Amino acid sequence: MAESLKNTAMSGTSTLLSVGQPGLAGNNNVTSTGADTLGTTHAQSHSTCLLHHDTRPEIDADVIVIGAGISGLAAAKELVQRGNKVIVLEARDRIGGRIDSRAIGPQDAAEGYARVDMGASFVHGKYDNPIYDLAQDLNIKVHYTSPEGEMRILDADGQMDEHTANRLGFNVSYTFFDASRSYAQNNDPSPGESLASYVFAADSPLFDGLNQNEIASAIQRDQQPSNLRWKAKTLGRSFSGWTGADLEDVALRWWGFERDTMGPDGMVTSGRYHEVVDHLADLVTSHANYDGQIRLGEKVERIHWDSDRELVDVTVTELRNNASSPSTSRTYTASKVICTLPLGVLQRRPPAFVPQLPPRKRRAIRALGYGLLSKIAVRYDKAWWRDSDKTTSYFILPLQEKITETMPPCSPELQRKLKPQGLMVQNFINIDGTAQLVMFLGADYGQAMEQADQNECVQWAHTLFKRYLSPTISSTDIPEPIGAIASSWSTDPFSFNSYTYIPSKPDSKDGLPVTPLDIAEFAVPIWSGALGFAGEHTHPDRYASVHGAYESGIREGKRAAIALDMHRKGEE
Ligand SMILES: Cc1cc2nc3c(=O)[nH]c(=O)nc-3n(C[C@H](O)[C@H](O)[C@H](O)COP(=O)(O)OP(=O)(O)OC[C@H]3O[C@@H](n4cnc5c(N)ncnc54)[C@H](O)[C@@H]3O)c2cc1C
Repeated sequence: MAESLKNTAMSGTSTLLSVGQPGLAGNNNVTSTGADTLGTTHAQSHSTCLLHHDTRPEIDADVIVIGAGISGLAAAKELVQRGNKVIVLEARDRIGGRIDSRAIGPQDAAEGYARVDMGASFVHGKYDNPIYDLAQDLNIKVHYTSPEGEMRILDADGQMDEHTANRLGFNVSYTFFDASRSYAQNNDPSPGESLASYVFAADSPLFDGLNQNEIASAIQRDQQPSNLRWKAKTLGRSFSGWTGADLEDVALRWWGFERDTMGPDGMVTSGRYHEVVDHLADLVTSHANYDGQIRLGEKVERIHWDSDRELVDVTVTELRNNASSPSTSRTYTASKVICTLPLGVLQRRPPAFVPQLPPRKRRAIRALGYGLLSKIAVRYDKAWWRDSDKTTSYFILPLQEKITETMPPCSPELQRKLKPQGLMVQNFINIDGTAQLVMFLGADYGQAMEQADQNECVQWAHTLFKRYLSPTISSTDIPEPIGAIASSWSTDPFSFNSYTYIPSKPDSKDGLPVTPLDIAEFAVPIWSGALGFAGEHTHPDRYASVHGAYESGIREGKRAAIALDMHRKGEE
C-alpha cells in the first residue's frame, strides 16, 4: 500500500480523472504512457520484464484486460507495476463499472456537484479489507454510525411502539446475519433448502419474543397479534436487497460459509467511491515508468485464442456517442487476456469465445445466480424527515390492507406477483451530512422499479417518504426534491443486474446443486493460461463485493505476470 501511494504521488494528472466528473464522460478516451524511462526503485525491481517485452510486431500488449471496473483496474495496476504492457478495454464511456458515483441535483457554487453512489456505497468490514485500507490512504472518509438508533422501523403512519420496533429490528438482523449462518453450519441443510426456509420457519428467531410483545401491543392498538408476525416477515423480505435475490432463491447450505472481512460495515462519503477506481486508473495510465492504457467505448465482441501463435486476439466494436457515425471494429493482440466481464454479461450477452469455453466454465456461468439491487436516490435542500439526526436506516413496512402502496409503480399483473416487503431507506444526513434519502430495492422489487418510468418511481418514493417519514409535519411543508436518480442495473447491457449469489435450485442442465466451487471454477485460467477471469463472481470467499472484486484482480494480475516472467526466462 505504501508503495502504491508513493507511485501516486509521483504520477502526473491522468485524463481519466475527469471521466468520473459529471458531464465530462470521455468517448473512446485513449490514455497511454511511454515506458522509456527506468529509474524509480519500483521500476528497477521489474526492469528485466520491461527489457524483455515480446517484440513481435502483431502484439499490442503483454496483457489485455477486459473491463475497467475495480477488478480490471486492480489487475492492470498489478501488471504494469510488474513491468508489463497492458491495455484495458472498457465498453462504457466511464471507468468503475458497478462503482458508479454520480452528480445529483443542482450544482452548488461553493461545493460543486452533490453526489451519490448508485452502485457500491458500503465498505464491508474494516479489517482485512483492502478497500478500507485504500480509502484510508486516499483520505476518503468511511462513516460508522453507533448501533443505537441506527435502524428505525416504521409501519403505517409510524405508529409502531418503540419496544416492538426494537424487538423486530434485533430479530431480523440476528436471524439474517447470525442465526441462519450458524444453523447452516451446524445442521448441514440439504442443497435444495433455501434461506427463506429457515428465516421464515414458524420457530425462526425472527419471531422471537413477539408473542408477549405482540399481544400487549396488539391489544393496545386493537389489532390481531398475527399482524406482527406478518410484519416481521415483510421486514425479513427487505433483506433481498442484501442477497440481490428472493430469500426463497438463495441456498441455505452455503449461507455464511465464506471467510470474509472482519469488523463493522461503513459507508463511503456520498459519491466518493469513484476516487478509489480513479486512483487505480491513475496508477495504470499516468506513471512515467508504467505502460498502461485504458480505452473507453470499446465493447469486446470476440476473444480468440490462436494456440499456434500462442496469442489471443480480442475484437472490439468502438461505440460512438454519436449515433449517426457508424461503429467500427478493430482487433488487439496480446499474450494473455484477463476477462472481468460481469456474470450477468457472461450469462446474457457474452462475447464469442473461440474456442468455446470448457463445460465447467459454461456450467458455472449458467448455474450461478446473479441478483439485483436497485436504488432510488432523492435529494432535498434540507433534511425534513423525522429523527434525521438519530437514524441511519428507516425500514418502511407495508400495510396489510394497502400492500400496493409500498410496491413500485408497475402493472397490476406484476404487482400481483410481488410479495409484500419492507423498504430500506438510508438517511445520509446522519451518515455524512448530505440531505438525501436513498431507497434500496432488492430482487423483484428492483426489477419492477427499473421497468417503470423513472420519474414515476421518483414521485412514488417521494410520496412514501412524505407519508412514512414525516407524520408530524403537514405535507404542504415538505419540500419537493431538488434532484433524483433511479438506477437501471437490470437493463444495463454492461452489467445486467448487480451481483452473484449461490442459488438454492440446481443447475438447469445437469440437475446438480450449485456450490461455491462454481465460483472457484472462475479462478482457474484456461487456454494454457492465456485466458484468466477476475471479478466479484470469481472470489469464493468475497463474491458480491468491491473488496472481493479487487482481490480477484490482484490475483489474476499477479498470475499473468508470473506466467509471463516464467515464459521470458524460458521456465515453462
Ligand atoms: C447497486 C449496487 C450496490 C452495491 N453495493 C455494494 C456495496 O455497498 N459494497 C460492496 O462491497 N459491493 C457492492 N456492490 C457490488 C460491487 O459493486 C461489485 O461487486 C464490484 O464493483 C464488481 O466489480 P467488477 O470489477 O467485478 O465488475 P464491474 O464493476 O461490473 O466491471 C466490469 C466492467 O466490464 C465492462 N464491460 C461489460 N461488458 C463489456 C464488454 N462487452 N466489453 C468491454 N467491457 C465490458 C463494464 O462496463 C464494467 O466496467 C454493489 C453493486 C451494485 C450494482
